[in-house]
Amino acid sequence: MGFSQWLSLTFIFHAFLSLPISSEPSLGPEVLPQIPVNFLELAKRPEVFDWMVGIRRKIHENPELGFQEFETSKLIRAELDQMGIPYKYPVAETGVVGYIGTGSPPFVAIRADMDALAMQESVEWEHKSKVPGKMHACGHDAHVTMLLGAAKILQDHRHEIQGTVVLVFQPGEEGHGGAKKMLDDGVLENVDAIFGIHVSASHPIGAVASRPGPVLAGSGFFEAVISGKGGHAAIPQHTIDPILAASNVIVSLQHIVSREADPLDSQVVTVSKFQGGGAFNVIPDSVTIGGTFRAFSKESFIHLKQRIEEVITKQASVQRCNATVTFNDNDQPFFPVTVNNKDLHVHFQKVAGDILGTQNVLEMQPLMGSEDFSFFAEVIPGYFFFLGMKNETQGRFESGHSPYFRVNEDALPYGAALHASLATTYILEKQSKPNPPKGSSHDEL
Ligand SMILES: [Zn+2]
Ligand SMILES: [Zn+2]
Repeated sequence: MGFSQWLSLTFIFHAFLSLPISSEPSLGPEVLPQIPVNFLELAKRPEVFDWMVGIRRKIHENPELGFQEFETSKLIRAELDQMGIPYKYPVAETGVVGYIGTGSPPFVAIRADMDALAMQESVEWEHKSKVPGKMHACGHDAHVTMLLGAAKILQDHRHEIQGTVVLVFQPGEEGHGGAKKMLDDGVLENVDAIFGIHVSASHPIGAVASRPGPVLAGSGFFEAVISGKGGHAAIPQHTIDPILAASNVIVSLQHIVSREADPLDSQVVTVSKFQGGGAFNVIPDSVTIGGTFRAFSKESFIHLKQRIEEVITKQASVQRCNATVTFNDNDQPFFPVTVNNKDLHVHFQKVAGDILGTQNVLEMQPLMGSEDFSFFAEVIPGYFFFLGMKNETQGRFESGHSPYFRVNEDALPYGAALHASLATTYILEKQSKPNPPKGSSHDEL
Protein backbone atom coordinates (compact mmCIF):
# COMPACT_ATOMS: atom_id res chain seq x y z
CA MET A 1 0.00 0.00 0.00
CA GLY A 2 1.42 3.42 -0.98
CA PHE A 3 1.79 6.16 1.59
CA SER A 4 -0.97 8.38 0.14
CA GLN A 5 -3.35 5.45 -0.01
CA TRP A 6 -2.49 4.57 3.57
CA LEU A 7 -3.06 8.17 4.59
CA SER A 8 -6.47 8.38 2.95
CA LEU A 9 -7.52 5.08 4.49
CA THR A 10 -6.43 6.32 7.88
CA PHE A 11 -8.53 9.40 7.37
CA ILE A 12 -11.52 7.33 6.35
CA PHE A 13 -11.31 5.13 9.43
CA HIS A 14 -11.05 8.09 11.72
CA ALA A 15 -13.87 9.94 10.07
CA PHE A 16 -16.08 6.88 10.54
CA LEU A 17 -15.11 6.58 14.12
CA SER A 18 -15.36 10.29 14.85
CA LEU A 19 -12.05 10.04 16.69
CA PRO A 20 -9.39 12.73 16.71
CA ILE A 21 -6.66 11.92 14.20
CA SER A 22 -3.52 11.31 16.18
CA SER A 23 0.01 11.51 14.84
CA GLU A 24 0.36 7.77 15.19
CA PRO A 25 -2.90 6.32 13.97
CA SER A 26 -3.40 2.60 14.09
CA LEU A 27 -4.96 0.47 11.40
CA GLY A 28 -4.88 -2.58 13.59
CA PRO A 29 -7.63 -5.15 13.61
CA GLU A 30 -9.26 -3.44 16.58
CA VAL A 31 -10.26 -0.43 14.44
CA LEU A 32 -12.31 -1.96 11.61
CA PRO A 33 -14.72 -3.77 13.94
CA GLN A 34 -15.81 -0.43 15.37
CA ILE A 35 -17.64 0.57 12.18
CA PRO A 36 -20.41 -2.04 12.50
CA VAL A 37 -20.69 -1.47 16.23
CA ASN A 38 -21.09 2.28 15.72
CA PHE A 39 -23.66 1.72 13.00
CA LEU A 40 -25.70 -0.54 15.26
CA GLU A 41 -25.66 2.10 17.98
CA LEU A 42 -26.87 4.65 15.42
CA ALA A 43 -29.63 2.36 14.17
CA LYS A 44 -30.79 1.67 17.74
CA ARG A 45 -31.15 5.35 18.64
CA PRO A 46 -34.79 5.94 19.61
CA GLU A 47 -35.38 8.54 16.88
CA VAL A 48 -34.01 6.22 14.16
CA PHE A 49 -35.77 3.14 15.55
CA ASP A 50 -39.14 4.91 15.87
CA TRP A 51 -38.79 6.31 12.35
CA MET A 52 -38.13 2.81 11.00
CA VAL A 53 -41.04 1.29 12.91
CA GLY A 54 -43.32 4.01 11.50
CA ILE A 55 -42.25 3.25 7.91
CA ARG A 56 -42.63 -0.49 8.37
CA ARG A 57 -46.14 -0.19 9.78
CA LYS A 58 -47.21 2.18 7.03
CA ILE A 59 -46.05 -0.28 4.36
CA HIS A 60 -47.62 -3.18 6.27
CA GLU A 61 -51.01 -1.45 6.30
CA ASN A 62 -50.95 -0.99 2.53
CA PRO A 63 -49.53 -4.19 0.99
CA GLU A 64 -49.10 -4.21 -2.78
CA LEU A 65 -48.49 -7.20 -5.05
CA GLY A 66 -45.60 -7.64 -7.48
CA PHE A 67 -45.10 -4.76 -9.94
CA GLN A 68 -48.00 -2.91 -8.33
CA GLU A 69 -45.92 -1.41 -5.50
CA PHE A 70 -46.85 2.16 -6.49
CA GLU A 71 -47.48 3.56 -3.01
CA THR A 72 -44.53 1.66 -1.51
CA SER A 73 -42.31 3.05 -4.24
CA LYS A 74 -43.66 6.55 -3.63
CA LEU A 75 -42.94 6.23 0.10
CA ILE A 76 -39.37 5.07 -0.61
CA ARG A 77 -38.76 8.00 -2.97
CA ALA A 78 -40.21 10.47 -0.48
CA GLU A 79 -37.81 9.21 2.20
CA LEU A 80 -34.84 9.31 -0.18
CA ASP A 81 -35.82 12.87 -1.19
CA GLN A 82 -36.00 13.81 2.47
CA MET A 83 -32.48 12.45 3.00
CA GLY A 84 -31.16 14.10 -0.17
CA ILE A 85 -30.22 10.76 -1.77
CA PRO A 86 -30.31 10.71 -5.59
CA TYR A 87 -32.07 7.79 -7.24
CA LYS A 88 -33.24 6.30 -10.51
CA TYR A 89 -36.95 5.68 -11.02
CA PRO A 90 -38.74 3.83 -12.47
CA VAL A 91 -36.55 0.76 -12.73
CA ALA A 92 -38.46 -2.44 -13.60
CA GLU A 93 -41.77 -0.54 -13.33
CA THR A 94 -41.95 0.33 -9.61
CA GLY A 95 -38.34 -0.25 -8.54
CA VAL A 96 -36.07 2.48 -7.18
CA VAL A 97 -32.25 2.55 -7.21
CA GLY A 98 -30.49 5.02 -4.91
CA TYR A 99 -26.83 6.05 -4.83
CA ILE A 100 -24.74 7.16 -1.85
CA GLY A 101 -21.08 8.15 -2.04
CA THR A 102 -18.73 9.45 -4.70
CA GLY A 103 -20.57 8.08 -7.73
CA SER A 104 -17.31 6.29 -8.63
CA PRO A 105 -16.07 2.72 -8.11
CA PRO A 106 -16.04 0.57 -6.16
CA PHE A 107 -19.80 0.02 -6.34
CA VAL A 108 -21.49 -2.28 -3.84
CA ALA A 109 -25.23 -2.97 -3.81
CA ILE A 110 -27.60 -3.73 -0.94
CA ARG A 111 -31.06 -4.99 -1.87
CA ALA A 112 -34.59 -5.13 -0.47
CA ASP A 113 -37.69 -6.64 -2.07
CA MET A 114 -40.93 -4.65 -1.91
CA ASP A 115 -43.94 -6.84 -2.70
CA ALA A 116 -46.64 -8.47 -0.60
CA LEU A 117 -48.62 -11.70 -0.98
CA ALA A 118 -52.18 -12.37 -2.16
CA MET A 119 -53.48 -13.65 1.18
CA GLN A 120 -55.61 -12.45 4.06
CA GLU A 121 -53.91 -11.35 7.27
CA SER A 122 -55.17 -13.17 10.37
CA VAL A 123 -53.18 -11.19 12.94
CA GLU A 124 -55.43 -8.79 14.82
CA TRP A 125 -53.42 -5.68 15.64
CA GLU A 126 -53.50 -1.93 15.21
CA HIS A 127 -51.56 -1.91 11.94
CA LYS A 128 -53.19 -4.91 10.27
CA SER A 129 -53.35 -4.89 6.45
CA LYS A 130 -56.07 -2.51 5.27
CA VAL A 131 -56.34 -4.28 1.92
CA PRO A 132 -58.53 -7.40 1.97
CA GLY A 133 -56.74 -10.40 0.47
CA LYS A 134 -53.27 -8.84 0.53
CA MET A 135 -50.66 -9.12 3.23
CA HIS A 136 -46.96 -8.58 3.90
CA ALA A 137 -46.51 -12.14 5.16
CA CYS A 138 -42.90 -12.55 4.05
CA GLY A 139 -41.43 -9.51 5.80
CA HIS A 140 -40.69 -7.46 2.69
CA ASP A 141 -42.11 -4.44 4.52
CA ALA A 142 -39.28 -4.93 7.04
CA HIS A 143 -36.74 -5.40 4.24
CA VAL A 144 -37.64 -2.05 2.64
CA THR A 145 -37.49 -0.40 6.06
CA MET A 146 -34.06 -1.83 6.91
CA LEU A 147 -32.68 -0.65 3.58
CA LEU A 148 -34.02 2.85 4.25
CA GLY A 149 -32.47 2.63 7.73
CA ALA A 150 -29.14 1.74 6.15
CA ALA A 151 -29.57 4.62 3.70
CA LYS A 152 -29.97 7.03 6.60
CA ILE A 153 -26.80 5.79 8.33
CA LEU A 154 -24.82 5.81 5.10
CA GLN A 155 -26.04 9.24 4.03
CA ASP A 156 -24.86 10.64 7.38
CA HIS A 157 -21.39 9.26 6.48
CA ARG A 158 -21.52 9.91 2.74
CA HIS A 159 -18.39 12.07 2.70
CA GLU A 160 -16.33 9.24 4.12
CA ILE A 161 -17.49 6.65 1.58
CA GLN A 162 -14.75 6.45 -1.04
CA GLY A 163 -16.93 4.56 -3.46
CA THR A 164 -20.65 4.13 -4.08
CA VAL A 165 -23.32 2.20 -2.25
CA VAL A 166 -26.20 1.26 -4.56
CA LEU A 167 -29.59 0.90 -2.84
CA VAL A 168 -31.71 -1.61 -4.75
CA PHE A 169 -35.45 -1.46 -3.95
CA GLN A 170 -36.74 -4.35 -6.03
CA PRO A 171 -40.35 -5.07 -7.02
CA GLY A 172 -42.02 -8.41 -7.63
CA GLU A 173 -40.00 -11.02 -5.74
CA GLU A 174 -42.88 -13.39 -4.96
CA GLY A 175 -42.81 -15.55 -8.08
CA HIS A 176 -42.43 -12.65 -10.51
CA GLY A 177 -38.66 -12.56 -10.84
CA GLY A 178 -38.46 -8.79 -10.40
CA ALA A 179 -34.71 -9.16 -9.87
CA LYS A 180 -34.34 -10.37 -13.45
CA LYS A 181 -36.24 -7.38 -14.72
CA MET A 182 -33.98 -5.06 -12.72
CA LEU A 183 -30.92 -6.82 -14.13
CA ASP A 184 -32.27 -6.38 -17.65
CA ASP A 185 -32.59 -2.66 -16.82
CA GLY A 186 -28.88 -2.59 -15.97
CA VAL A 187 -28.97 -1.99 -12.21
CA LEU A 188 -25.85 -4.04 -11.56
CA GLU A 189 -23.66 -2.53 -14.28
CA ASN A 190 -20.23 -1.88 -12.74
CA VAL A 191 -21.39 -3.23 -9.36
CA ASP A 192 -18.78 -5.45 -7.67
CA ALA A 193 -20.93 -7.26 -5.12
CA ILE A 194 -24.49 -7.41 -3.77
CA PHE A 195 -25.94 -8.31 -0.36
CA GLY A 196 -29.52 -9.32 0.49
CA ILE A 197 -31.30 -9.93 3.81
CA HIS A 198 -34.37 -12.00 4.63
CA VAL A 199 -36.00 -11.99 8.05
CA SER A 200 -36.29 -15.41 9.67
CA ALA A 201 -38.69 -16.66 12.31
CA SER A 202 -36.57 -19.72 12.99
CA HIS A 203 -33.42 -17.91 14.14
CA PRO A 204 -33.11 -15.90 17.36
CA ILE A 205 -33.18 -12.12 17.46
CA GLY A 206 -29.69 -10.68 17.28
CA ALA A 207 -28.42 -13.64 15.23
CA VAL A 208 -27.86 -14.18 11.52
CA ALA A 209 -27.56 -17.38 9.51
CA SER A 210 -26.20 -18.31 6.12
CA ARG A 211 -23.63 -20.48 4.37
CA PRO A 212 -21.19 -20.32 1.47
CA GLY A 213 -22.25 -21.91 -1.82
CA PRO A 214 -25.84 -22.98 -2.60
CA VAL A 215 -28.19 -21.68 0.09
CA LEU A 216 -31.61 -21.75 -1.61
CA ALA A 217 -32.96 -24.03 -4.33
CA GLY A 218 -33.75 -23.31 -7.94
CA SER A 219 -37.50 -23.42 -8.46
CA GLY A 220 -40.09 -23.79 -11.17
CA PHE A 221 -43.85 -24.22 -11.50
CA PHE A 222 -45.87 -26.54 -13.69
CA GLU A 223 -49.51 -26.85 -14.61
CA ALA A 224 -51.22 -29.62 -16.56
CA VAL A 225 -54.67 -29.98 -18.02
CA ILE A 226 -55.69 -33.64 -18.21
CA SER A 227 -58.63 -34.14 -20.54
CA GLY A 228 -60.94 -37.15 -20.82
CA LYS A 229 -64.63 -37.41 -21.58
CA GLY A 230 -67.22 -36.39 -19.03
CA GLY A 231 -70.46 -38.14 -18.32
CA HIS A 232 -72.69 -39.79 -15.71
CA ALA A 233 -70.81 -40.97 -12.65
CA ALA A 234 -72.96 -44.13 -12.53
CA ILE A 235 -72.10 -45.12 -16.14
CA PRO A 236 -68.27 -44.86 -16.16
CA GLN A 237 -67.94 -47.14 -19.19
CA HIS A 238 -69.25 -44.28 -21.36
CA THR A 239 -66.70 -41.80 -20.02
CA ILE A 240 -62.94 -41.34 -19.90
CA ASP A 241 -62.32 -40.37 -16.32
CA PRO A 242 -59.75 -37.55 -15.93
CA ILE A 243 -60.00 -37.64 -12.11
CA LEU A 244 -58.63 -41.19 -12.00
CA ALA A 245 -56.00 -40.30 -14.62
CA ALA A 246 -54.89 -37.24 -12.64
CA SER A 247 -54.72 -39.32 -9.46
CA ASN A 248 -52.41 -41.82 -11.17
CA VAL A 249 -50.34 -38.96 -12.59
CA ILE A 250 -49.84 -37.52 -9.11
CA VAL A 251 -48.75 -40.86 -7.67
CA SER A 252 -46.34 -41.39 -10.58
CA LEU A 253 -44.85 -37.91 -10.11
CA GLN A 254 -43.82 -38.94 -6.59
CA HIS A 255 -41.53 -41.58 -8.08
CA ILE A 256 -39.33 -39.08 -9.89
CA VAL A 257 -37.61 -37.92 -6.71
CA SER A 258 -37.95 -41.13 -4.68
CA ARG A 259 -36.74 -43.52 -7.42
CA GLU A 260 -34.79 -41.52 -10.01
CA ALA A 261 -32.91 -38.83 -8.08
CA ASP A 262 -29.69 -39.34 -6.13
CA PRO A 263 -30.79 -39.43 -2.48
CA LEU A 264 -27.87 -37.13 -1.65
CA ASP A 265 -29.00 -34.53 -4.21
CA SER A 266 -31.98 -32.74 -2.59
CA GLN A 267 -34.96 -32.30 -4.89
CA VAL A 268 -38.70 -31.72 -4.53
CA VAL A 269 -41.74 -32.31 -6.74
CA THR A 270 -44.98 -31.21 -5.08
CA VAL A 271 -48.46 -31.23 -6.59
CA SER A 272 -50.22 -28.44 -4.74
CA LYS A 273 -53.18 -27.82 -7.02
CA PHE A 274 -55.95 -30.23 -8.05
CA GLN A 275 -59.08 -28.80 -9.66
CA GLY A 276 -61.79 -30.80 -11.35
CA GLY A 277 -65.39 -31.82 -11.01
CA GLY A 278 -68.21 -30.10 -9.19
CA ALA A 279 -70.92 -32.69 -8.60
CA PHE A 280 -71.22 -36.08 -6.91
CA ASN A 281 -72.77 -37.70 -9.93
CA VAL A 282 -70.80 -36.18 -12.82
CA ILE A 283 -67.43 -37.24 -14.19
CA PRO A 284 -65.86 -34.01 -15.49
CA ASP A 285 -64.29 -33.47 -18.90
CA SER A 286 -60.98 -32.35 -17.52
CA VAL A 287 -58.85 -31.85 -14.43
CA THR A 288 -56.14 -29.25 -13.83
CA ILE A 289 -53.21 -30.05 -11.60
CA GLY A 290 -50.17 -27.95 -10.78
CA GLY A 291 -47.26 -27.61 -8.44
CA THR A 292 -43.63 -26.74 -7.95
CA PHE A 293 -40.28 -28.46 -8.41
CA ARG A 294 -36.96 -27.62 -6.76
CA ALA A 295 -33.34 -28.64 -7.12
CA PHE A 296 -29.83 -27.48 -6.24
CA SER A 297 -28.14 -27.97 -9.59
CA LYS A 298 -29.00 -26.95 -13.12
CA GLU A 299 -28.72 -30.55 -14.33
CA SER A 300 -31.13 -31.88 -11.72
CA PHE A 301 -33.51 -29.02 -12.37
CA ILE A 302 -33.61 -29.60 -16.13
CA HIS A 303 -34.01 -33.34 -15.57
CA LEU A 304 -36.97 -32.77 -13.24
CA LYS A 305 -38.65 -30.50 -15.77
CA GLN A 306 -38.26 -33.04 -18.55
CA ARG A 307 -39.49 -35.97 -16.44
CA ILE A 308 -42.49 -34.04 -15.06
CA GLU A 309 -43.70 -33.45 -18.60
CA GLU A 310 -43.08 -37.06 -19.67
CA VAL A 311 -44.71 -38.61 -16.63
CA ILE A 312 -47.81 -36.44 -16.89
CA THR A 313 -48.41 -36.94 -20.62
CA LYS A 314 -47.55 -40.65 -20.70
CA GLN A 315 -49.34 -41.62 -17.50
CA ALA A 316 -52.42 -39.70 -18.68
CA SER A 317 -52.37 -41.66 -21.93
CA VAL A 318 -52.32 -44.95 -19.99
CA GLN A 319 -55.75 -43.86 -18.74
CA ARG A 320 -56.83 -42.83 -22.29
CA CYS A 321 -56.58 -39.12 -21.47
CA ASN A 322 -54.69 -36.30 -23.15
CA ALA A 323 -52.50 -33.94 -21.15
CA THR A 324 -50.90 -30.61 -21.91
CA VAL A 325 -48.17 -29.35 -19.59
CA THR A 326 -47.05 -25.74 -19.20
CA PHE A 327 -44.19 -24.31 -17.17
CA ASN A 328 -43.26 -20.80 -16.04
CA ASP A 329 -43.45 -18.12 -18.68
CA ASN A 330 -41.52 -14.89 -19.18
CA ASP A 331 -43.61 -13.12 -16.56
CA GLN A 332 -42.68 -15.72 -13.97
CA PRO A 333 -39.26 -17.10 -14.90
CA PHE A 334 -37.62 -20.12 -13.28
CA PHE A 335 -35.59 -19.00 -10.25
CA PRO A 336 -31.97 -20.18 -10.36
CA VAL A 337 -30.22 -21.70 -7.34
CA THR A 338 -29.11 -18.96 -4.91
CA VAL A 339 -25.34 -19.37 -4.59
CA ASN A 340 -23.42 -17.40 -1.97
CA ASN A 341 -19.95 -16.27 -3.00
CA LYS A 342 -17.22 -17.74 -0.79
CA ASP A 343 -15.18 -14.54 -0.45
CA LEU A 344 -18.28 -12.61 0.54
CA HIS A 345 -19.05 -15.32 3.11
CA VAL A 346 -15.71 -14.57 4.78
CA HIS A 347 -16.50 -10.84 4.66
CA PHE A 348 -19.98 -11.45 6.08
CA GLN A 349 -18.71 -13.61 8.94
CA LYS A 350 -16.21 -10.95 9.94
CA VAL A 351 -18.61 -7.99 9.78
CA ALA A 352 -21.58 -9.80 11.32
CA GLY A 353 -19.28 -11.23 14.00
CA ASP A 354 -18.10 -7.72 14.88
CA ILE A 355 -21.64 -6.42 15.13
CA LEU A 356 -23.40 -9.38 16.79
CA GLY A 357 -20.63 -11.45 18.35
CA THR A 358 -19.28 -14.51 16.57
CA GLN A 359 -21.56 -16.82 18.56
CA ASN A 360 -24.53 -15.17 16.83
CA VAL A 361 -23.27 -15.80 13.29
CA LEU A 362 -24.78 -19.19 12.53
CA GLU A 363 -24.04 -21.62 9.74
CA MET A 364 -27.20 -23.11 8.22
CA GLN A 365 -28.19 -26.00 5.98
CA PRO A 366 -29.49 -25.10 2.51
CA LEU A 367 -33.26 -24.60 2.27
CA MET A 368 -35.59 -25.83 -0.50
CA GLY A 369 -37.16 -22.37 -0.59
CA SER A 370 -36.11 -20.06 -3.41
CA GLU A 371 -35.37 -16.38 -3.92
CA ASP A 372 -35.05 -14.29 -7.04
CA PHE A 373 -31.95 -12.70 -5.46
CA SER A 374 -30.38 -15.67 -7.28
CA PHE A 375 -30.60 -13.74 -10.56
CA PHE A 376 -28.29 -11.08 -9.09
CA ALA A 377 -25.91 -13.65 -7.59
CA GLU A 378 -25.69 -15.37 -10.99
CA VAL A 379 -24.06 -12.37 -12.63
CA ILE A 380 -21.94 -10.83 -9.84
CA PRO A 381 -20.70 -12.13 -6.47
CA GLY A 382 -23.74 -12.08 -4.20
CA TYR A 383 -24.47 -12.94 -0.61
CA PHE A 384 -27.87 -13.69 0.92
CA PHE A 385 -28.44 -14.23 4.62
CA PHE A 386 -31.19 -14.62 7.19
CA LEU A 387 -31.78 -12.22 10.06
CA GLY A 388 -33.25 -13.74 13.22
CA MET A 389 -36.51 -12.51 14.76
CA LYS A 390 -37.34 -15.27 17.26
CA ASN A 391 -37.85 -14.14 20.84
CA GLU A 392 -39.70 -16.52 23.16
CA THR A 393 -40.75 -13.66 25.44
CA GLN A 394 -42.73 -12.09 22.57
CA GLY A 395 -44.77 -15.15 21.65
CA ARG A 396 -44.40 -17.42 18.66
CA PHE A 397 -43.24 -15.93 15.38
CA GLU A 398 -44.76 -17.85 12.47
CA SER A 399 -42.71 -18.54 9.37
CA GLY A 400 -43.16 -16.64 6.11
CA HIS A 401 -46.40 -16.96 4.10
CA SER A 402 -48.43 -17.80 7.21
CA PRO A 403 -51.53 -15.61 7.72
CA TYR A 404 -50.27 -15.27 11.29
CA PHE A 405 -46.82 -14.03 10.22
CA ARG A 406 -45.48 -11.19 12.39
CA VAL A 407 -42.32 -9.13 12.09
CA ASN A 408 -40.27 -8.63 15.23
CA GLU A 409 -39.52 -4.93 14.83
CA ASP A 410 -36.55 -5.26 17.19
CA ALA A 411 -34.76 -6.81 14.21
CA LEU A 412 -34.94 -3.58 12.18
CA PRO A 413 -31.81 -1.89 13.65
CA TYR A 414 -29.78 -5.07 13.13
CA GLY A 415 -30.79 -5.26 9.49
CA ALA A 416 -30.08 -1.57 8.87
CA ALA A 417 -26.67 -1.74 10.59
CA LEU A 418 -25.70 -4.98 8.81
CA HIS A 419 -26.59 -3.56 5.39
CA ALA A 420 -24.65 -0.35 6.06
CA SER A 421 -21.67 -2.13 7.62
CA LEU A 422 -21.36 -4.81 4.96
CA ALA A 423 -21.34 -2.15 2.25
CA THR A 424 -18.92 0.31 3.87
CA THR A 425 -16.43 -2.28 5.06
CA TYR A 426 -16.56 -3.91 1.62
CA ILE A 427 -15.58 -0.59 0.05
CA LEU A 428 -12.83 0.00 2.64
CA GLU A 429 -11.40 -3.47 2.15
CA LYS A 430 -11.58 -3.13 -1.60
CA GLN A 431 -9.51 0.04 -1.32
CA SER A 432 -6.93 -1.59 0.90
CA LYS A 433 -6.74 -4.50 -1.56
CA PRO A 434 -7.45 -2.92 -4.97
CA ASN A 435 -7.39 -6.29 -6.74
CA PRO A 436 -8.75 -8.87 -4.34
CA PRO A 437 -9.12 -12.36 -5.77
CA LYS A 438 -12.53 -12.27 -7.41
CA GLY A 439 -14.56 -15.29 -6.45
CA SER A 440 -16.87 -16.81 -8.97
CA SER A 441 -20.51 -16.62 -8.03
CA HIS A 442 -20.81 -20.27 -8.92
CA ASP A 443 -17.92 -21.83 -7.06
CA GLU A 444 -19.85 -24.93 -6.10
CA LEU A 445 -21.84 -25.63 -9.21
ZN1 LIG B 1 -42.09 -14.98 0.28
ZN1 LIG C 1 -39.56 -13.13 1.02
